[in-house]
This record gives sequence, C-alpha cells and structure tokens, in this order.
Amino acid sequence: MKIPVIDLSECEDCEACLDLCPTVFRRNDAGYIEVVDLPEYPEEEIDEIIKNCPAQCVTWEED
Ligand code: SF4
Repeated sequence: MKIPVIDLSECEDCEACLDLCPTVFRRNDAGYIEVVDLPEYPEEEIDEIIKNCPAQCVTWEED
C-alpha cells in the first residue's frame, strides 16, 4: 500500500495540507504535522498536496 510520508525536517508548517486534506493530515499533541493512520489514502488528494506543499516534503512510500 502507498502511504504519504512527511519529512518533518523540511516541513515549513504552512498548514496547506491541513486545509486541503484534513482527513489525512493533522497536528499531533507534540505540535507537529502528521499523517493519520488510514486503511487507504485518497490518491488524487495526496497528489495535490505533494504538488502544493511549498517545502516539497510530502512523498509516497510503499508499505
Ligand atoms: S504542506 Fe508541506 S510544508 Fe506545509 S504543513 Fe504540510 S507538510 Fe508542512
């Protein structure tokens, strides 16, 4: 399965992913953006995030 992954060392905390795809991206208790555990991910929406993330820090990984 493909899973979206965030490279937090590059994340600019712009919140675009939270705005565009709140079912997949959230802010955790530590204050960092993270990917919610889901059985599957909406491919087109994630592709859109990958295109729009200003830090280019969202990628797909194969599980
Ligand atoms: S869109 Fe990219 S840079 Fe912006 S908060 Fe999400 S992961 Fe971080």
